[in-house]
Amino acid sequence: MEENVTGTTSTAWKTIWKLKIPPNVKNFLWRCLHGVLPTLSVLASRHVEVDTICPLCHLYDESLRHLMCDCTHVAALWQSLPNCLMPIGDEDFGDWLAGTLMGDEIVMIQCAARLWCIWCERNCVVWSQKNWNAAAASMEALRILESWQPLTGNRLSASALNSAARTHAVVPDDAFTLLVDAAVFPNDGLASYGVVLKDSDGNYVAVKNGPIRCVQDAHLAEAIAIKEALSWAYERRLSNVVVLSDCQTACKFFNGSLLDFSSAGCVIQQCRVLR
Ligand SMILES: [Zn+2]
Repeated sequence: MEENVTGTTSTAWKTIWKLKIPPNVKNFLWRCLHGVLPTLSVLASRHVEVDTICPLCHLYDESLRHLMCDCTHVAALWQSLPNCLMPIGDEDFGDWLAGTLMGDEIVMIQCAARLWCIWCERNCVVWSQKNWNAAAASMEALRILESWQPLTGNRLSASALNSAARTHAVVPDDAFTLLVDAAVFPNDGLASYGVVLKDSDGNYVAVKNGPIRCVQDAHLAEAIAIKEALSWAYERRLSNVVVLSDCQTACKFFNGSLLDFSSAGCVIQQCRVLR
């Protein structure tokens, strides 16, 4: 059994080595694979005096698997990658990663971008006292993936870079783009939004994120995120802007003439005024 695990890990490392991603991310994946990334639980096992509680949810010990896969605060990053199955039962994180790395190459690169993003954003929380923002982290994962495009020979398709709803969007050549996302954590009563502004050539111009107070309804959170994005564009005096959201309900009501009398519908109505 042990030989199999070692063999799988060794095969996974060969796969990582061949991936078209930056060398520091390959090194990071190697450390994930061997369980030596300095999470708080790993530090405690090495007799470093640390509080092992997860810095994102403050509910469970920060093991590698909890941080990368199980923590409710990282769920939003994986929802946009349905082809990647999460670990089940008491599966070891290294075994899960090794298995994932034997799959489709594009899924592997998408998976690597998310893991790297979670680690970098988590480090900002631990070492720079930054607040975790799941929606902003999702946007950052997308930005990381796009920054790797030249390495992959532009093999990441639009669908790999964007969610289904965004892929079908038609953006005029001269328009700015606002990528909008929201994340809700019903158990904590927390929600957050993230907005990325790109120019007509697809270059990143600015990023904005923040909390959404007292909202536990995903539809309402998405509507508020769109309103925040539009208000931001208005402040920046941008007139030719396309808003891209993966919330189909919000898009349907925003683009249609139907009235939605829910709280989210009222926010969408306010967005129409900003349009
Ligand atoms: Zn957690």
